[in-house]
Amino acid sequence: MKVIVVGSSHGGYETVRGILADQPDTEIQWYEKGDFLSFLSCGMQLYLEGVVKDVNTVRYATPEGMRAQGVHVFTRQEITSVDAAAHQVTVHDLANDTTRQESYDKLVLSVGAVPVSLPVPGTDLQNVYAMRGRDWAIKLKAKTVDPTVHNVVVIGAGYIGVEAAEVFAKAGKHVTLVDMIARPLGVYLDAEFTDVLTDTMKAHNIYPATGQMVKEFAGQDGRVTKVVTDQGTYPADLVIQTAGIKANTGWLKGVVDLDEKGLVKINDHLETSAPDIYAVGDATKVPFAPTGDLEQIALATNARRQGRIAAMNLLGKKTTMPAVSGSSALSVFDYHFASTGVKEGTADKYGVKTASVFVTDSTQPPFVPTEAGNTQVDFKLTYDPESHRVLGAQIMSKRDVTANINAISLAIQGKMTLEDLAYADFFFQPGFDRPWNVMNVAAQKALLAEK
Ligand code: FAD
Repeated sequence: MKVIVVGSSHGGYETVRGILADQPDTEIQWYEKGDFLSFLSCGMQLYLEGVVKDVNTVRYATPEGMRAQGVHVFTRQEITSVDAAAHQVTVHDLANDTTRQESYDKLVLSVGAVPVSLPVPGTDLQNVYAMRGRDWAIKLKAKTVDPTVHNVVVIGAGYIGVEAAEVFAKAGKHVTLVDMIARPLGVYLDAEFTDVLTDTMKAHNIYPATGQMVKEFAGQDGRVTKVVTDQGTYPADLVIQTAGIKANTGWLKGVVDLDEKGLVKINDHLETSAPDIYAVGDATKVPFAPTGDLEQIALATNARRQGRIAAMNLLGKKTTMPAVSGSSALSVFDYHFASTGVKEGTADKYGVKTASVFVTDSTQPPFVPTEAGNTQVDFKLTYDPESHRVLGAQIMSKRDVTANINAISLAIQGKMTLEDLAYADFFFQPGFDRPWNVMNVAAQKALLAEK
């Protein structure tokens, strides 16, 4: 069997890996239109902050390593069209500007997305950047040490925007963080958490300008100099656009069914509307465990799960994509936070009725001194007030206790209730935590509130 995989990031890589793990003698052609195989934007902040020194190491796979496993790897080769009936793709070799046809038995699309460029004047000015992929990583790195850059304006206060803001604040720049929603990280955390993080950001030279719509990037001599919103004007030597993504699927119109946002429609087995064509990653939706609905949740974790499931399905092992909860974690200076599922702030968007409890505790018993790591932990548990089903949670501390959120993700996936969580078995060791884990404490508090 011959499989063509398009795209070499998380989804594509995991598809190839899944096929190799199960049926290594499959003929695999793996295509990437960029000149670099398998760059991981997730590692970008670590590179920009100098933790990872070499941009070329921010990857899973090298062409040589994959070729050694029998995979036919093609970089700078773009798949430009698909003839689904004939089971053929057109390959544009960008290096020498030639095209050829390749046939397939199964085709997997992990074409991903690109950052949205706002529909406002001035996006074509110099120094209006984005943050995704190796090319932007290299350009951004140069700006971190550019002495002519004093003011950076980041558009979009989601986790990518906050990563960008932190990079440039640590590089000594004055950063303005603009978003149309009211709070930075508002999709990930409720106000109890974002209030603390907003103060922390301000203390580190990042100034949120939220609840504002960008009207224009204005410039002089072809270079951006300021960002104009409906509420203010912010000086800018560099603008970084991180306000959402757009699927790379324009060329797939008429080949597979797309939704109104251009996302490829897929079924539970990641099959598209065309026979033998699968799609995974940021250009698709995933089943959202708290509601059972399909949602766009652009995470590497989801792309990798889908890649593995697509590999199993195309090899003939019918497998259903498991529901996910959109779990993610981030550090913002001294704080580490993680969240999963539904928050109070996103309940309306998902059309669910929720109740929540907020718990502030210490990470360890009171006798453990702060020098030994004992510190405050804030935790919020969100649930269905009628069924008591656990729907989501958020956690934040100066100690890294983010892994708790993985337990809540599992609880959501397993449709567990407050009653299940209140007395669930979690370990205790004073060097790590308390006899009642903060998840137990929150569920017990919620049960009292619901009595
Ligand atoms: P993409 O990563 O978009 O890759 C698609 C690839 O396909 C590209 O290399 C593109 O060049 C290639 N391609 C597209 N069309 C064609 C074609 N026609 N022919 C050939 N090649 C083609 N997620 C997490 O879970 N955790 C994190 O910590 C995290 N951090 C992130 C940090 C940043 C700065 C960014 C930008 C994203 C982060 N993500 C994170 C999200 C994660 O990177 C994406 O969800 C993931 O990359 C999606 O993978 P993908 O395979 O769908 O597509």
